[in-house]
Amino acid sequence: MLSKRLEEAVNEQIKNEFYSAYLYLAMAAQCEAMNLKGFAHWLKVQAKEEVAHGMRLFDFVNDRGGRVVLRAIEQPPVEYPSLKAMFEAVLEHEKKVTGMIHKLYEMAREEKDYPLMTHLQWFVDEQVEEEKNASEILGYLKMAGEGPGLLVLDARMGERKD
Ligand code: MG
Repeated sequence: MLSKRLEEAVNEQIKNEFYSAYLYLAMAAQCEAMNLKGFAHWLKVQAKEEVAHGMRLFDFVNDRGGRVVLRAIEQPPVEYPSLKAMFEAVLEHEKKVTGMIHKLYEMAREEKDYPLMTHLQWFVDEQVEEEKNASEILGYLKMAGEGPGLLVLDARMGERKD
C-alpha cells in the first residue's frame, strides 16, 4: 500500500498532469484563433497525452489501495505575445514537470517504495522526450520566424499522429 505521504504527492502530480492538459488546450485555443490549425492540432494531441499521464497515476493509486482525490486546477494563461513565447513557455513548463517527477521519485526512493519507483521510471523517460520535442519546435520557430516559413511549419505540426 502507498504511504499517506506518497499518496498525497501522487495526487498532487495527477493534478499537475491535468493542469498540463489544460495549459496545452488553452494554447491550442489561441492557435485556433490565429488560424494556425497545425499548431492547434499538435497541442490538442499533446493535451490528450497529458490526460493519459494523469490517468496512469490515477490507476496506480487505485491499484495500490490508495484514494484518488482530485484537486482544483488553476486557470492557464489565455494569451501569449507570439508563438515563440508560447513554445518557450512549453519548454519551461516541461522542465518544471521534470523537476516534479524527479522530486516524486526521490520521495519514493526515500520510502523504498519500489513499485512507485518503477512506475515513475516511465515518466522520467517521457520527460526527456517532452523536453526534446519542445526545444526542437522552438528551434524551428526561431528559424521560420513569422513569415511564410511558419505556414510550412504549421503544416508539419498538423501531421502529428499521437
Ligand atoms: Mg506529462
